[in-house]
Amino acid sequence: MAMAGKLGIAAFALTLAGSALAADQEFHCTHCKEWNVPHKPFKIYGNTYYVGTAELSALLVTSPEGHILLDGALPQSAPLIEANIRKLGFRVEDVKLILNSHAHFDHAGGIARLQRDSGATVVASAHGASVLEDGVIGKDDPQYTPAEEPRIEKVASVRTVADNEVVRVGDLALTAHMTPGHTLGATTWSWTACEQKRCLDIVYVDSLNAASADSFRYSDSPARVVQFKASIAKVGALQCDIAVAVHPDFTHLMENLARKTARHNTFIDKNGCRDYADDARKRLDARLKSEKLPAR
Ligand SMILES: [Zn+2]
Repeated sequence: MAMAGKLGIAAFALTLAGSALAADQEFHCTHCKEWNVPHKPFKIYGNTYYVGTAELSALLVTSPEGHILLDGALPQSAPLIEANIRKLGFRVEDVKLILNSHAHFDHAGGIARLQRDSGATVVASAHGASVLEDGVIGKDDPQYTPAEEPRIEKVASVRTVADNEVVRVGDLALTAHMTPGHTLGATTWSWTACEQKRCLDIVYVDSLNAASADSFRYSDSPARVVQFKASIAKVGALQCDIAVAVHPDFTHLMENLARKTARHNTFIDKNGCRDYADDARKRLDARLKSEKLPAR
């Protein structure tokens, strides 16, 4: 999410050498502390586990041939994610791919370290890949400010995916869905997970929030508004038995965890994607309306 312009993010300290030590320094922002509170890992369904922090998602999809990790949260989240992977009994070194939702510091900040420690290949949309490789968001990002500092540790050689492309590790097959709006490279991912003979569609939903720097107006680009609305509609229409958003509270993940029992998997909700899309549509409409009001 990261309403950067409004949150007054401190500069990201970098040394000339861009050494790993400096680059993996904690990133400070208004909500980073509460976002990064450690959280126990837990099973979502089948081979899919939550390994993120209290308020920043990271998912692990496992197979005997290797695993796929989705997102890396903040730089300071990377050790927590690695500890969670180990707590579940898996090896960080067996993570073969790291997929990114969108290239903002709160979802991609930990990826460089996770890549180093696992040796995994990082995968993102073409637009997301260029931001990960540059370490800095561009002028086309709604959260861009003229005083933009590098906010993401650079990730070397990112593999790019196109819309509907499937990435594989062993039997795992995850599909990329381009859902531009929050960023131009925003990517939602989906896959199937099974328990005994019951297979369900899991969707890792990228942010559909119209968060931006103060000066940015979505309505300045009608094409962008059309694109954002199409992404919202696309997420709403996905085959979706379990929706997990990049910020877990967007899809009520922790509330559902608290209500979960051995007999009732409260993450299963066929309306999860549609409900999140409906919320996002309302928020975008409200945002567009507010952009028409005279500046104060
Ligand atoms: Zn974001």
